[in-house]
This record gives sequence, structure tokens and C-alpha cells, in this order.
Amino acid sequence: MGEKGMIFDIQRFSVHDGPGIRTTVFFKGCPLRCAWCANPESQDRSPQLLLRDNRCTTCGRCLAACPERAIGIAKGKGRRIDWRKCTQCLRCVATCETGALSIAGREVTVTDIADEVERDRSFYETSGGGVTLSGGEPLMQPEFSVSLLRRFREMGLHTALDTSGHADRSVLQAVIPLVDMVLYDIKMLDNEKHRQYTGVGNAFILENARFVAQSVRTWFRIPLVAGVNDSEDEIQRIASLARGLGVEKISLLPYHAGGRAKLRQIGRSAGAFRGKPPAVRHMARLRSIIESEGVASTIAS
Ligand code: SF4
Ligand code: SF4
Repeated sequence: MGEKGMIFDIQRFSVHDGPGIRTTVFFKGCPLRCAWCANPESQDRSPQLLLRDNRCTTCGRCLAACPERAIGIAKGKGRRIDWRKCTQCLRCVATCETGALSIAGREVTVTDIADEVERDRSFYETSGGGVTLSGGEPLMQPEFSVSLLRRFREMGLHTALDTSGHADRSVLQAVIPLVDMVLYDIKMLDNEKHRQYTGVGNAFILENARFVAQSVRTWFRIPLVAGVNDSEDEIQRIASLARGLGVEKISLLPYHAGGRAKLRQIGRSAGAFRGKPPAVRHMARLRSIIESEGVASTIAS
């Protein structure tokens, strides 16, 4: 039980997902739908078709593989997918020799990941790093998370969990004792605004933040979007919460627009949201506000 899970990426040599040099495992599946999400292919739990149109040679091989006739080639427009017809059967992917059709998401075992993580042990040891479970939301696959964390503990590795905090308390109680630290995402404090931008309210998330911070070494992470959650008052209040909970550090993650292109690659509309990162000077001001509360700060990516 819990020996297999669904991920969409493993990133080696991460330096923004906890202390030192780390390997970050990105789980697939997330209960939130943040308007600014940099990895929208992480949101659905199932594997899904991902397009790289710049690799398509319009050879036409994929057309015959599609039982739904969802693929067409239009003169001057290249290969097109009719996403209303696509059932995500993924049969077309094997016919494409250029990588223009690929799959976001793959099932892996605990041993697959442990073997990958083991490759960089010397970097963890010299830098004080380790392995981070991120996503998506690792707590949406609690049994797999627990199995992985137990294996990492047997391997003597430092472990971190990057979470939205949107999980049942029973899941947190199972996972938190197995991690050395938590990177806890706080987007904003207002419940209705949180619902507007992420699809869920945050009362539950803030309650869980208290539990986590009281249980284990915790850093907050704030994805910062200009005009959405980067006011001095917002950051002051989050920093004050962090100080009260004994949170060690707040990492600011300025918005980047990479998620918009990825939305199109998986057949979703980029929608009306147009994010911008805060100006560099404003970020420096926000850091000084955090540090005046006695909480360390950093800018990550
Ligand atoms: S994944 Fe979609 S486009 Fe590809 S073969 Fe299946 S239905 Fe057709
Ligand atoms: S098989 Fe690949 S390269 Fe050929 S038309 Fe389909 S997507 Fe393009």
C-alpha cells in the first residue's frame, strides 16, 4: 500500500525548496486552482496530454491513432487538437517521434524515487540539503508520501514537505512526524479573496498552519503577485502571524508567467488573469517589513 504514486517531475539540484542542495519530487494533483499557478499540469491527478507545438513537423502520423478524430492538420496552422473531443486516452503519444505529443504525469514507485534521490547524496551531505516533496500537493497522495518519507528516513536523508496545507488533520498527523521541516504556502489572509484566487477558502489552511508550525520547523512561502497580495499591510500581517507561530523564515516567490503557456499546452484557456511580479524595490521593502518582525526572509523562485 502506498508504494506507487503519480508525479509530474523530479528536479535535481534545487536550491529554493529548503536548505542546501535538494532533489524536489513534484506530485501530481492539487486541491487548489491558483490563478497564477506556474505548473498547471500539476493540478489534475491523472496523466494528461501535453503539446509542444514547436516540435511538430505536421507529419500526420498521430491522426490515425486517435479514436475520437480529435486531431487535425490545417494548412498553414499546423496540427490542432479538438480538446472537446479528446478523452485523454493518450494513444496518439506513442506515434509521435518528435516529442510534440507527450504525457504530463507518470506513475512511479518508492524505489524509483529513492534510486533517483540517492544519486546526489554527496551534494546533500556537503550542502546540508536533502529531498523535498512538492507539487501539486503531496498530501493528496498521503499513503505514497508516508511510504516515501519512511524510505528517506531509512536512507538518513533530510526531508522537507512543501504544502498548501489544504489537507485533513489526520493526514498531517501521519506525515508531519516523518519530515524534518515544512515549507507552508500562505497566499493571503482574507478568506473570500483566497477563494476568489485559488478556488478554496483559507480558514482550514490557517488552522492547519498553526498545527504544523507547533509541530515541526516551518518556513512560510508566499507566491507574490503585484496588486493581488503584495501590499505592505498583507505582508505585515503574514509576518506577524509567522512570528506568533515561531515560523523561522518567509520565502517570497515573485510571480512568473510560465504557467500561461503551459495552460495552452494542456488545452486549457489562460483566462482573464494577467499576473505581474512586484517591482524589485518593492520586494526589498517587503523583506524589510518581514525582518522587522524578527522573521528571516528570502526571495526564491
Ligand atoms: S489523447 Fe486525445 S488526441 Fe490523443 S488519441 Fe486520445 S483522444 Fe485523441
Ligand atoms: S505525430 Fe507528432 S510531429 Fe507528427 S503531426 Fe502528430 S504531433 Fe506533429
